[in-house]
Amino acid sequence: MKLGDLGEFGLISRIAANVAGGNGVITGIGDDAAVTALTPGMQLLTSTDMLLEDVHFRLSWHDPYRLGRKSLAVNISDIAAMGGIPLWATLSLAVPANLPLDFLDEFTRGFLSMAREHGVTLIGGDTCSSRNGLIISVTIMGEQHPELIVRRSGARSGDEIWVTGTLGDAAQGLALLEGTITPSRQGRGGVSGEACDAAEQFLLSRLLDPTPRAAAGRSLAEAGLVSAMIDISDGLVADFEHIAELSGVGGTIRLDAVPLSPAFRSVASVLPTSPYQHALTGGEDYELAFTAPPANHEKIVKLMKKCGIDGVPVGIVTSLPGVRVVAPDGTEYIPQSHGFTHFT
Ligand SMILES: [Mg+2]
Repeated sequence: MKLGDLGEFGLISRIAANVAGGNGVITGIGDDAAVTALTPGMQLLTSTDMLLEDVHFRLSWHDPYRLGRKSLAVNISDIAAMGGIPLWATLSLAVPANLPLDFLDEFTRGFLSMAREHGVTLIGGDTCSSRNGLIISVTIMGEQHPELIVRRSGARSGDEIWVTGTLGDAAQGLALLEGTITPSRQGRGGVSGEACDAAEQFLLSRLLDPTPRAAAGRSLAEAGLVSAMIDISDGLVADFEHIAELSGVGGTIRLDAVPLSPAFRSVASVLPTSPYQHALTGGEDYELAFTAPPANHEKIVKLMKKCGIDGVPVGIVTSLPGVRVVAPDGTEYIPQSHGFTHFT
């Protein structure tokens, strides 16, 4: 069967058939609007993201299952960055007529697997045909107590700047796909070809199937440990600049403190350029960057451990505006670009 035989309503029923009820969902897919109820005392968080073929993804690189997962993951990441609990999502698709139905089935399977992992229920959406590639638009809703919601505007001079996980993996994965980094089948400096392949697979999975730091974001907020938070979608420097701007502060990031994965290091070791370019300004890691008073340091370390991820301080919030990156010898490191932006 082809998409054309199925039609719009057929496609919607095909997706809806795999969706069960969920938290706070009173009426899900099928009526003119979904009906949902927030937990009493909570406020609604809403965020939306569009993914466009050949702007955000390429069908030759992104398999449909992981594309479905990522479409929701990037939205969950935004709720995590507010310290919220993700609850509901809508999914709208503009689909080229020639897209195989199998692709949509796999995409939906991926999307719903990510939803299940994070307790998110698909409550609606829209489908239409596209003349210019696949367009995916997801809106996510979540909730949190008003006093626990973490904004970008709360950083104070003297706070530590933290990041979760490792940075630059997704950017290196993208560089591998784009061919700006040459894959190394012969092995690198005594490292076997197999180990190189494993490193490359890790970097690619960080790009194609990112893990939103939902538990960490929520736990940090609920413990009241952080003053400002953002998810790293456009690179640490660019994303921390958003915190700095809205908080009326600046920041100093220590180059040698930026956490790098073993896979990242092994690939970076054979590159002629500084590895930090990808780590500081590469997009799509979907880790969290947050600020917190130094007094909360030990509690944050413990909480991160409990969430099963690493969190490390990488710098300090300054009253001086602007974001500086400082190398171990005290010199300032100037990244070649600040991070990914559209329309430039
Ligand atoms: Mg964000």
